[in-house]
Amino acid sequence: MKNKQITTKKKYNIFKHLTLRIKSQADEYIEVFSRKELIKAVQYATYKHIPYYVLGGGSNTTVTQSTYSGLVIVNRYIYREIVSETDEEVNIRVSSGYPMSLLVSEFIEKGWEGFEYHMGLPGTIGGGIYMNSKWMHPIRYVSDCLVEAVLIDRIGNEKKVTKDYFKFSYGYSFLQQTKEILLEIVFRLKKKSIPLLQKRAKQSLIYRKKTQPFGVSTCGCFFKNISKIERKKANVETKSAGYLIDKSGLKGVSIGNFKVSTKHANFIVNTKSSQSDPCDLIQLVSLIKQKVKLKYGIELKEEVEYLT
Ligand SMILES: Cc1cc2nc3c(=O)[nH]c(=O)nc-3n(C[C@H](O)[C@H](O)[C@H](O)COP(=O)(O)OP(=O)(O)OC[C@H]3O[C@@H](n4cnc5c(N)ncnc54)[C@H](O)[C@@H]3O)c2cc1C
Repeated sequence: MKNKQITTKKKYNIFKHLTLRIKSQADEYIEVFSRKELIKAVQYATYKHIPYYVLGGGSNTTVTQSTYSGLVIVNRYIYREIVSETDEEVNIRVSSGYPMSLLVSEFIEKGWEGFEYHMGLPGTIGGGIYMNSKWMHPIRYVSDCLVEAVLIDRIGNEKKVTKDYFKFSYGYSFLQQTKEILLEIVFRLKKKSIPLLQKRAKQSLIYRKKTQPFGVSTCGCFFKNISKIERKKANVETKSAGYLIDKSGLKGVSIGNFKVSTKHANFIVNTKSSQSDPCDLIQLVSLIKQKVKLKYGIELKEEVEYLT
């Protein structure tokens, strides 16, 4: 493959592609709009022996350095088609760059059950499956209705897999180890009444707005909730990382432009919203970890992904 087949932008500031709006410059940058372009971008990076990172909505990604020595691929591959349909259910193929919010609304409008509780979840389908994003009231995962998917490996070869391959668990998919890229996913959705789905979506959104900071620059929950064993060790009633951070006296604490939300302690918000310095974030994250460790003996682990 010839590397001149794609044109990338050089020394590109990606802050507007990260919902935390943190300053970072990628050596190379490209937006892709089709499966072909996504595959080509991966092959290009492989050919040039440079690292690459696929960004969906950038709502669970942050940085630790102000530069990324590689190619950032922003996935805008948006496509969906019905594969098969009966009176009871529909199998639908969706591309990985599909915006979650659009998909949730469209599925509700069609009366297709499975995504309505994710109303208000930012990002793309690709990011949602990679993270196995979830809603806890009631418990629903973005992967619940997944039947099969097409991936590309790190050198750009396609591979068809079924749900088992992903080894989904809380906040985890096998892609976090293989670093393969999702191209398309087939979901199987049951047909339900539209008002029922609208009601569920509304409930989720109301709960979200009540418990989370809304309309601010953030990347959602920064740390993973703790395990059952850790909960026992910490001698607390909940697995919520936000609870531990709150009880460690960190709500409202800030370094530079980054602040622990006063509404939900597991949310770090960027109060200036433009190009804030990653060094301040690193310091705040390390302060949170130290204080929680000191009070509860627990090492918090990041839920967010670092672009490094
Ligand atoms: C206000 C707010 C609320 C949130 N609420 C929730 C919530 O309720 N539940 C929850 O679980 N999360 C929540 N999040 C976190 C985040 O929105 C989700 O994890 C979301 O699904 C991430 O999607 P994304 O496309 O933005 O991922 P990105 O941040 O773009 O990427 C995340 C990871 O996925 C990888 N990735 C992206 N696309 C692909 C692909 N095509 N193939 C392979 N890997 C890929 C990236 O390389 C990266 O490692 C919230 C975030 C915000 C800002």
